[in-house]
Amino acid sequence: MNLHTHVPALIDGFGRKVDYIRLSITDRCDYRCIYCMPQDMRFLPKDEVLSLEEYYRLVKIFVSLGVRKVRITGGEPLVRKNALWLFNELGELPGLKDLVVTTNGSQLEHQASALRQAGVRRVNVSLDSLDATRFHNITRVGQLDKVLRGIEAAKKAGFDNVKLNTLLMKGINDDEAIPLVAYAIAQGLDISFIEEMPLGQVQRLHHSTYVSNEETLKLLRSRYDLISSVESTGGPARYWRVPNTNTKVGFISPHSHNFCESCNRVRITCKGELYLCLGQESKVDLAPLLKQFPNDDIPLRNAIIESIRAKPKGHDFNPRRNEPAVIRFMSQTGG
Ligand code: SAM
Ligand code: SF4
Repeated sequence: MNLHTHVPALIDGFGRKVDYIRLSITDRCDYRCIYCMPQDMRFLPKDEVLSLEEYYRLVKIFVSLGVRKVRITGGEPLVRKNALWLFNELGELPGLKDLVVTTNGSQLEHQASALRQAGVRRVNVSLDSLDATRFHNITRVGQLDKVLRGIEAAKKAGFDNVKLNTLLMKGINDDEAIPLVAYAIAQGLDISFIEEMPLGQVQRLHHSTYVSNEETLKLLRSRYDLISSVESTGGPARYWRVPNTNTKVGFISPHSHNFCESCNRVRITCKGELYLCLGQESKVDLAPLLKQFPNDDIPLRNAIIESIRAKPKGHDFNPRRNEPAVIRFMSQTGG
């Protein structure tokens, strides 16, 4: 491998360029969202989870191979002890253009400004309900007012963008699409709706509460004159503008659209497994190489380049099927 070649190193077998990684820095979370994990979720023993230094090393290698965007996620990334150290290091990493984070917002009130100073450009905050009781029922433990204060702090911290992520479930919060968009408009934020994916064994029947983004879009169009937008943030969302506002409404639709064709990302779990596709089992464990070659990046680089070549063509979700397509939790793979 010629390291000075101008051809991007991370090209898969279908010609797709991988320049975006999503990195889960913990499987732990202070919430227990009903679609994400069971109430009695068992977390990984701490020694199976990589150190922050190991995440940094991995990101550095990926960036040297052409990755330009890193999303830090989890579990809840902001409950990982000393996570700020990693954000600060990554914020200074040459070549990394876009450092972003996905959070449940529970810690944002106190961390938003430090994250911004570290170089985080954008923040996605998950928010499924504006009703405190419902919010508590969906997250099983969360406090809505804390998250709303976190969103306020994120707005003040001056990120390039603060976006809400919402997952609607039939009979649980699907009547909140319009109120949540109204809240986003009032706050000057973007909002994206994510379709529920059948991941992990969460002790509920995903298909029974599945709401398609087509349904949500139809409902929203009964209230707003949404204008289709070609804008992209490098992710799989399709956007609509709400006229005369600063708000874009996005739809992340793994079921309704085939977003695999333009997939540019891979995921790294908190254990150091490289998952090539959210909906497939194909993975490569990078942890042994990290440990075995603490001072030599070449074996890791080669393993990463080889793995990307084998990235699957696409996923195979069927939301109405009763079983998870993949028996692993979003909190481990990184949503
Ligand atoms: N804890 C952070 C949060 O909630 O934003 C980051 C990790 S969480 C796994 C990332 C995103 O995954 C959240 O927006 C959540 O709604 C979404 N998610 C979790 N389980 C999901 C599922 N089964 N289907 C679709 N999205 C899911
Ligand atoms: Fe935690 Fe995020 Fe999963 Fe909710 S969706 S349980 S906040 S990791």
